[in-house]
Amino acid sequence: MRQRKRWLLAQFAPAPDGLRASLVERFSRCGKANCHCQRDGPKHGPFYFLTQCLAVGRSTSFSSNLRPAAGSQEGIAHFRRLQELMEELSQINAELLRRDESLTDE
Ligand SMILES: [Zn+2]
Repeated sequence: MRQRKRWLLAQFAPAPDGLRASLVERFSRCGKANCHCQRDGPKHGPFYFLTQCLAVGRSTSFSSNLRPAAGSQEGIAHFRRLQELMEELSQINAELLRRDESLTDE
């Protein structure tokens, strides 16, 4: 477990582009009455939105575009990676506490 913890800690690296957000793809109808999208035709899109969860049930949307904002997918992946590392580190630390062991000793 401590070996896994050492490995985890070695994986941490700053992610300057880290982004806590989700990339959402949406198709939509336009307002034109004659457009194919109003009938059975394909909707317009995809449009890409970046959304961020603010609290339970609350989120904000920013940066909508025909393409995902440059670098956003990488930024999201980097943030998630750090989150996963942090989560596993926390689980190991919780187990160490259960065993009444120090969280900082190697
Ligand atoms: Zn349309």
